[in-house]
Amino acid sequence: MYLLSWTLAALLVVLSSVDTTVSAVPLTWPTLPIFDADNDAFVLPESINPTQYIVNLVPDIKSKKFHGEVNILGQTDDTGFEVNRIVLNADDLKVKSVQLVDLTEGAREVQIKNFVLKRIPQWLVVTLASNLSANSDYQLRIKFEGNFGVEAGMYHASYDDDYTKIGGDVAFTEFQTTYARKVFPCWDEPKYKASFIMRVARYPQQISLSNMPLKSTSVPDPHEDNRVWDTFEESPDMSTYLVAMVVAQLVSVHDPVHNLSIWTQPGRQEGAQYALNLTGQLMDRMDQYTGIPYTLPKLDQVALPKLRHQAMEHWGVIAFSERFLVVDDLNSLKQKQQVAFHISHELSHQWFGNLVTMEWWNYVWLNEGFAEFFQYFLLDMLEPTWRLMEIFVVNEMQSMLTHDSFLFTHPVTMSKVRSVVDIEKVFDSVSYCKGGALVRMLYHIMTPDLFQKAIRDYLQQNSLKSVTEDELWDSLSSVQTELNWICRLT
Ligand SMILES: [Zn+2]
Repeated sequence: MYLLSWTLAALLVVLSSVDTTVSAVPLTWPTLPIFDADNDAFVLPESINPTQYIVNLVPDIKSKKFHGEVNILGQTDDTGFEVNRIVLNADDLKVKSVQLVDLTEGAREVQIKNFVLKRIPQWLVVTLASNLSANSDYQLRIKFEGNFGVEAGMYHASYDDDYTKIGGDVAFTEFQTTYARKVFPCWDEPKYKASFIMRVARYPQQISLSNMPLKSTSVPDPHEDNRVWDTFEESPDMSTYLVAMVVAQLVSVHDPVHNLSIWTQPGRQEGAQYALNLTGQLMDRMDQYTGIPYTLPKLDQVALPKLRHQAMEHWGVIAFSERFLVVDDLNSLKQKQQVAFHISHELSHQWFGNLVTMEWWNYVWLNEGFAEFFQYFLLDMLEPTWRLMEIFVVNEMQSMLTHDSFLFTHPVTMSKVRSVVDIEKVFDSVSYCKGGALVRMLYHIMTPDLFQKAIRDYLQQNSLKSVTEDELWDSLSSVQTELNWICRLT
């Protein structure tokens, strides 16, 4: 997630004239319930570990409502816990039905006593007539309805500039940090990684996008106002906050070498060419540096009319506010840098955050600190005349030092992050700037070669997993012998 514009603002101070309208970023948050942050009441208790979601969504822009069904495959582990309830996240949803099938016992339906939505702490509690069995496979099927949100979950926006306006209204989702639960019931914590098969209903004149490539499109469904169903391929295991969906009338420019597309409203595709060329080059650099090719079969980048944040790194379908992806004036250094910074940051997240994800939100600097550092480091490989590694010191380190001098500063890893309010608060300059500065420090004290070797190990050992700092330190320590040898020489 690209949250604040201190990066761009300071860059412009040094390299170009300052346009304060560009650096002014609206930070409006949804109204959040106040929780007691001193206990674990918000962390889901153990019941079933989800392994696969099939999510069916029918967004209706006109009424600002949606409905759908989620089929969740999950397993119980061998600890034999004797619980008669399943607890998962849901918020602001109307749950219409819940069905549970024990697949281990020949698809036996498990009797459900009742199901209750608890607004605090945003749980759907399904009470069963009998206990769950250990080492068993279950299928949970839930039908639900919901309303579009204002700036989180599923919401809509309209292109309102002077282009063709064919793009009109867009329905899309943004789930970071805890807003997937506003669109479908799920285990909405980053450590619960599972695969996703998304099915989205749309009108024939629209297109839909999701994390994975389109697999098939149905004939018009008379039960859904003759919408067609787009079914997307199954994703690798991922966290719920990275799932995304877009429905709109969009056009694209395409790079077949990288299977990369930039989507805009009709009439603005010319302005997407800079982003297309740059992203392909950055993907090559990231592949080479990490030794891990970009994981998914395709990458879409979408220019939306607005976004809660400036950009969001959904795996395989990165969302941008339009001005951070489209360059209309190639002579404008300011426009190019604005777009380049955002692409570089979100592309870095495809490895740092999406492929390897923090286990819980108190480790968010593992996502944002690395993305912040690589945003400069990666772009510097292509644009050395921008002197970005020097700009990093001006932007990130100075911001960090300022923030760190305030009473409300905190360690990069916070001990108590539990409630929705706590989670939103950790997306600050400590996680971004101090996290990035910490990564830069490691890069310099370890030497570039050993840092790269350790980072490759970190990504390879933890691909498709969730991590704490321990996994990072393990990989950094794996080059310790060579590092000690270098230190003795110097
Ligand atoms: Zn980010």
